[in-house]
Amino acid sequence: MKLTVLGSGTNVPHPRRSTSGYWLETSGGSVLLDCGPAAPLRMAQEDLPWAELDAIWISHFHLDHCGGLASFLAGTKYAAKTRQRTKPLKIFGPSGITELFERFDAIYNYGLREQRFPVRILETASLEPFELLPGVRGVTAKTPHTPESHAIHITDASETTLVYTSDTGFHEPLAAFARAVDLFILECSFPKDKPGEKHLELAEAMYLIRKAEPKRAMLTHFYPEWDEVSFGDEIRTFDPRCDVIEATDGLELTIDA
Ligand SMILES: [Zn+2]
Ligand SMILES: [Zn+2]
Repeated sequence: MKLTVLGSGTNVPHPRRSTSGYWLETSGGSVLLDCGPAAPLRMAQEDLPWAELDAIWISHFHLDHCGGLASFLAGTKYAAKTRQRTKPLKIFGPSGITELFERFDAIYNYGLREQRFPVRILETASLEPFELLPGVRGVTAKTPHTPESHAIHITDASETTLVYTSDTGFHEPLAAFARAVDLFILECSFPKDKPGEKHLELAEAMYLIRKAEPKRAMLTHFYPEWDEVSFGDEIRTFDPRCDVIEATDGLELTIDA
């Protein structure tokens, strides 16, 4: 698999970190993990084949994770690059994603489903495996963040595995969910002294990494509280047993089994 980080930040405006979006190339096609308001712009800036995107997975309904969905589909509806497209675009999400999509659509009666290609919206249930892309398995797990928020575990045909927590409070079962994956992507909103229980701070993320024993880990979803912090110095104090990578907008990673 190959990952491109579109946005490593949050809703808070930041000069180098935009809202959530992760472009993942798998054995069965491409999937965009979360689609924040900056994701359509960021896909174009990274010169990714957005007109051929196969699937989108939305973790939860905070705007920094789904606020780009409607504008992206308003764009694909009229873009020259989608004129020849016939293959469907699948949009996966937790229970409520269909209603959310329809509410976005109703704001201006955009007709977001009336595209040159089929748009299929599929609601997935916690811990029930589904086919994310041909030959690529997905399974989601509930996280303590919002009523609908989920993490996702992806396995492609080469048995390469990835877990993305998206936004979450501290939740020990995430370590088992991400057990021995090739890349464990965790939110790490704050370096320390997090202001609430709905996100992770560094010590909690590092604890989950130590328990999960992934091949590599990547931290992301950084609030500006990280700006004055040396990422590498902070990570070293935890003496991790695997590489722990700092997500940055535009970072590309190849993930092998
Ligand atoms: Zn959130
Ligand atoms: Zn968020």
